[in-house]
Order: sequence, then C-alpha cells, then structure tokens
Amino acid sequence: MGGLDDLYQEIILDHYRNQRNTGRLDDATVAVDQNNPLCGDEIHLELHIDDGRLTEVAHSGEGCSISQSSASMMSEALAGKTEDEALDLVEHFRLVMHGEQDADEDRLGDAIALEGVAKYPVRIKCALLSWMAAKDAILTHRSGDQTGG
Ligand code: ZN
Repeated sequence: MGGLDDLYQEIILDHYRNQRNTGRLDDATVAVDQNNPLCGDEIHLELHIDDGRLTEVAHSGEGCSISQSSASMMSEALAGKTEDEALDLVEHFRLVMHGEQDADEDRLGDAIALEGVAKYPVRIKCALLSWMAAKDAILTHRSGDQTGG
C-alpha cells in the first residue's frame, strides 16, 4: 500500500501546486463562500449553469493543502455534469470521507487520492469544504429558479 499512498500524495501535491479552474467567471450563474474555521480554509466557488448542466466551475480561496487540492479536484470532477449528477457525486464523496462508501475512482477522478483523508477526522472538513460549497451553490441556484426547469 506504500506505493499507492505515495502516488496519492503526488496527486494531492500536484493539484495543490497547479490548481485547476481557479479564478472567477465572467458570467457566473451562482456564487457561494464557505469556510472551515477549524483550519482557516476559505473557498469562493462560482458555477455557470446552463440548461441544468455545470458548464463551468471556478474556485478561489486559501487554506491547507488538503482543502485547496480538493477544490481543484472537485472542479474537474463536477465540470460538465448535470446538477443531479453533481449532487450525487458530492454525496458519494461525502460518504467516502466518512468511511461509509467505497471510493469509485471512475466517478471521483483524481479526488480518489483523498480517500486516505477519511482516516484523519480533523482533515475531513478540509477535504469536504469545496464539495459542500458546490452542493450549496446548486441548491441556492435551484431555490432561486422560479421557472421550475
Ligand atoms: Zn484545512
């Protein structure tokens, strides 16, 4: 298992140093802020939702390597998904973090590398922060959507 742990560590560091989908969108559909006071992690998340699909995901913020790499992984995992698919994937990741579901690499992509965080309860909030922000953003978008689409 040492080899796999090393590989996962490399993936986490890569996402931390070269974060994907950072910054802000020109035409965000919805934006949310979340923070994890236990660790000082902050995330600002913007989604562009077009016809029920997350066409663009952008994040910015600061915090520990787990929170920042997780935000990068989340942005890759959720971009292009429908709202329902994204919510399902967020729930899957949450259950994996709480050790209640086996991680599905096909669905999680690089976020599979965070699987080991489940063993460290104080870091789980760090890993979950951006994913909970995504859920919050989608639900916020839905609650404001009066067209019922
Ligand atoms: Zn943290």
